[in-house]
Amino acid sequence: MASIRVDGWRSGIRFDAAHVIPHHPKCGRLHGHTYALHAEVHGDVDPATGFILDFGTVKDALRQVADELDHHVLVQARSPHFSVKEGAEGVEFVIAKKRYHVPKPDALLLPVEATTAEALAEFVADRVLAIVDFPATARRLDVGIDETYGKGAWATRTLRA
Ligand SMILES: [Zn+2]
Repeated sequence: MASIRVDGWRSGIRFDAAHVIPHHPKCGRLHGHTYALHAEVHGDVDPATGFILDFGTVKDALRQVADELDHHVLVQARSPHFSVKEGAEGVEFVIAKKRYHVPKPDALLLPVEATTAEALAEFVADRVLAIVDFPATARRLDVGIDETYGKGAWATRTLRA
């Protein structure tokens, strides 16, 4: 099996966003990161084209997701630790007795239980799966997200057994 790799730092697939990790001594305060998105696709080289799939399709998908997340307050809409309320004025969420109110255009509600790198990697993997029509040569997708250079998490999806 062969693989291709897109490195978000080197390919400029980055975004800036803010979040809160509930009940964490330091990350429990609202703060931001410059994130980078990466991907690896493992599979078989198509003898007709000489590659597993076009690098560009994966890069474009990662860039699209990075643009969707860029310059937002990332809100974990499925967290058991706090309640999220969406009103006309904006989004309100309460974490550990702290009440945040974020104007609607600034907040991005994500279908995750936490905005940890681990959970965001799962979210980005699902978004890439929804965007890219993977060819039969692609067997496995690994998606990575760094919160800063050298510190991140990965999620894996099986494309074909
Ligand atoms: Zn953080």
